[in-house]
Amino acid sequence: MKKILLTLLGVFALSILTGCAASSKPVQMKNPDDEGDIIIVCKDINDEDISEFNDTNESDPEDPQKDSDKNTGKKADKKYPPGYSEDVEFDPSWEYADYSVINSGSAKLYRASDNRNDVIIGVNAGHGTKGGESKKTYCHPDKTPKVTGGTTQAGAVMAPAISGGMRFADGTTEAAVTLRMAELLRDELLTEGFDVLLVRDEEDEQFDNIARTVMCNNVADCMISLHWDGDGLTYDKGCFYVSVPDQIKDMEPVASFWQEHDRLGQTLIDALAERGYKINGSGHMAIDLTQMSYSTVPSIDIELGNAASPHDDATLSGMASALVQGIRELYTDIEKEKDSSD
Ligand SMILES: [Zn+2]
Repeated sequence: MKKILLTLLGVFALSILTGCAASSKPVQMKNPDDEGDIIIVCKDINDEDISEFNDTNESDPEDPQKDSDKNTGKKADKKYPPGYSEDVEFDPSWEYADYSVINSGSAKLYRASDNRNDVIIGVNAGHGTKGGESKKTYCHPDKTPKVTGGTTQAGAVMAPAISGGMRFADGTTEAAVTLRMAELLRDELLTEGFDVLLVRDEEDEQFDNIARTVMCNNVADCMISLHWDGDGLTYDKGCFYVSVPDQIKDMEPVASFWQEHDRLGQTLIDALAERGYKINGSGHMAIDLTQMSYSTVPSIDIELGNAASPHDDATLSGMASALVQGIRELYTDIEKEKDSSD
């Protein structure tokens, strides 16, 4: 607060000298030391001032939320020391937040220190919420029934808030492997200049599927959920992403976003295929998942294999590199499209 006051006083002093040349619209502020009197200072501090402020001041450890909102805190010219991260809490005022029943956890937002490209990738290590199966949430925000079967049958209006996940043939839990994969993916993304929101970065994170989705909607630019399929097969069937079934493509927010979900999913599957990873069938399977029913950013569930798939660090690292290649290509294309439409 003191820093902000000093900055404002500085701007005030400058405004006397320059006659508010840089300002378009003055605002009135009460002088806290002199009740009743009104002083006039120049309008808000512009981006250059913020960048200078960031250059000369450490980030405020008392207010980690300050930088976490994608609409206010994301500035390409911000600088972060290597290894910088901040906790992000769940905000009950977010859209669809009240559909979540488990949201007392805290996510971690990691910031790239070099080659920053101003994109936050939401990474969700699937499963890993104790007690998640005993609570239920609505499959769809409009409370219509689920259209495909799976862990929860078609026709159900509610499903477990988050399931426990499967076990690999060697006994390792899916939740442990998705967490390891998320860590490896995070490290590669940070090296490439992407910021990373890990919605789960420990064994047990108290966030259900809706909370994880809503968090990515509001803090990240996209959401990638990592899974291995619990299909009961004894051979490695390969990778695929979960696409949105046709029956719910008219339901919001699916109607507005399913094409972006597909684009993200297809890019990642293409990158895995290019590096020789086995792809299941056409590379996607239409399943009615809670995640995509609530996503308002490009969002996919990617199944990187099943219980029979190798999941050692070397395999996971190789897959992480492929995913990062896909993400990099996608955002390079998006940047080009933005430039050509300007
Ligand atoms: Zn899973």
